[in-house]
Amino acid sequence: MTISPVTRRVLLLGGTGEARLLAGRLDADPAVEVISSLAGRTAAPRALPGRVRVGGFGGADGLAAWLRDERVDAVVDATHPFAARMSGNAVRACESAGVPLLVLRRPGWSPGPGDDWRRVPSLAAAAADLPGERVFLTTGRTGLAAFAGDGRRRYVVRSVDPPEPPLPSRTTVVLARGPFTVEEETALMREHRVDVLVTKDSGGAMTSAKLTAARDLGVPVVMVDRPPVPDGVPVAATVGDAAAWLAHAG
Ligand code: NAP
Repeated sequence: MTISPVTRRVLLLGGTGEARLLAGRLDADPAVEVISSLAGRTAAPRALPGRVRVGGFGGADGLAAWLRDERVDAVVDATHPFAARMSGNAVRACESAGVPLLVLRRPGWSPGPGDDWRRVPSLAAAAADLPGERVFLTTGRTGLAAFAGDGRRRYVVRSVDPPEPPLPSRTTVVLARGPFTVEEETALMREHRVDVLVTKDSGGAMTSAKLTAARDLGVPVVMVDRPPVPDGVPVAATVGDAAAWLAHAG
């Protein structure tokens, strides 16, 4: 008689490179069933190991019901550092369903010698005080409304899928999926004669080449600060730490 291993079901709230890596690691473990959840914002997301579900849960209550129905043993919130609504919902849903929750959040970026960064608390604050006329916006395709009223400056907007209106009137859209090299970022910023870069403090190596290019070109960076991680929830900074937490959770 074969005794099958006890399977623990893990819900991975995804949309990041770390979530993808963790999904691969968990999927390789026969004692774990991993379900990756995507919001469905990207039209053609890269394939993920394990089971995948797409679309919102219907708020914290919807997620709590889903966790109960699916008998989930643990949740890892590996969403993007700026996906604050989903992170807040995960806290409330896990409390209500009695399921352990970990936040997997890569550290933010820090300036080095030669960097000219101005930290701002929001996209609106970034738009209100731009130290340049030709703006490279890498804030995601849904974060452009704050700049839409500016008919004077030129904007280069880069995103994976076409950006959602409203957009500033003088906008050039560059559709591309990272990671990008420093050479590519430098060439793009030169081509469009960019004199200010606006980015969210996403952290990680996948999208940091633009910061090196900006430093090399002497272009100032307006860095939008992250929302805080919800209080009282354990946080892992790496995929390895998240896997170690899961080995003991639930
Ligand atoms: P958000 O504002 O925090 O979430 C809005 C709503 O989208 C949530 O309330 C939830 O709907 C749904 N949702 C978000 N993430 C989900 C997930 N992983 N699975 C199922 N439903 C999800 O988040 P967002 O900023 O729109 O980001 C959406 C997704 O894109 C996230 O998965 C995030 O990791 C990824 N992403 C975001 C950014 C960014 O800058 N914000 C950048 C790169 C990738 P319900 O309330 O109906 O459950």
